[in-house]
Amino acid sequence: MKYLDGYRDPDAARYIAKRIRDAAERLARVGRTVRLMEICGTHTMAIARHGIRDVLPENVVLCSGPGCPVCVTDAGYVDAAIELAGRGVTIASFGDMLRVPGTERSLSEARAEGARVVVCYSPAEALALARRDGAAEVVFLAVGFETTVAPLAALLGTARAGGASRFSMLTAFKTVPPALVALAEDPEVAVDAFLCPAHVSAVIGARAYAPFAERYGIPCTIAGFEPLDILLGIQDLLEQLADGEARVVNQYRRVVKDEGNAKARRAIAEALEPADAVWRGIGVIPGSGLAIREELAAFDAARVYGVTTAGRGPDPGCQCGDVLKGKILPDGCAMFGGACTPDHPVGPCMVSGEGSCAAYYKYSR
Ligand code: SF4
Repeated sequence: MKYLDGYRDPDAARYIAKRIRDAAERLARVGRTVRLMEICGTHTMAIARHGIRDVLPENVVLCSGPGCPVCVTDAGYVDAAIELAGRGVTIASFGDMLRVPGTERSLSEARAEGARVVVCYSPAEALALARRDGAAEVVFLAVGFETTVAPLAALLGTARAGGASRFSMLTAFKTVPPALVALAEDPEVAVDAFLCPAHVSAVIGARAYAPFAERYGIPCTIAGFEPLDILLGIQDLLEQLADGEARVVNQYRRVVKDEGNAKARRAIAEALEPADAVWRGIGVIPGSGLAIREELAAFDAARVYGVTTAGRGPDPGCQCGDVLKGKILPDGCAMFGGACTPDHPVGPCMVSGEGSCAAYYKYSR
């Protein structure tokens, strides 16, 4: 803990909070209310847990973007996994996917009705399961952003090298920069600055955000997960906005390099290729996904079993799409805390521990 204490120092927090107030005051003097968007689900939870919104002046709105991989997984993907389970395939998944609502039911409900759904703590566990003597065919639900994608891409290489005829992945991989383009170009979103993700940035590198600062004039600051990391990131964004600047600032240099992680990006490029992807509540974002390359098609469950993970349209009444675009805060949804709670989630933003609605429900009501 002693290393973390430096990032939780109360005196430093008070000093940064004052800098935040000063910058916000300069913006208020010219009549500006600004919207900052955090892009990472882990930031969303850390912001809620540490009460960061409570120190923000009234003219600073901090909203969540589409940075929780579970939240942006379309109902069609869940439906496809349930369909595969219905064909006798063993579905292996991280636990938080099980409660994500499909069109009619979740994997958890399918499991209660007899489907073979196994919770794994690592994808390698799913591969080992498929390699056991007499095992059924195993499909791993491979969902995530660049950080998760890199080890999964490497696992595809391991599966091919070591042989794994009963193992495949149903993928719903997504990449952050194309989603930021979609947000930057959506006139209804109106984000003034991005608080950029920490883990994803470790893979793609700080330079990946340069186009948002240069082309769209949106300040981008990469921040870590500790309270002072986040406060510093917010201070930096507000000072850039008050000064009329738009730069990429890397406040998380202890982890993120300008060039990112070349080895991880190579592993991704060797196994996967860019593809369009469906983001739940948002729709198709061109080039924002990653599909398994032809030479690894034997490990692509969609090809092996001929299932489609195509979008099923918005969930009736659920406003996850508006929450994920930062158009509304979670309590702006009529179902928040009533029809939709973590025990009875209507939409995926209430399911994941990193979902905006779940974070709001737990810490901000
Ligand atoms: S509160 Fe529930 S229904 Fe409303 S946006 Fe969030 S997840 Fe969807």
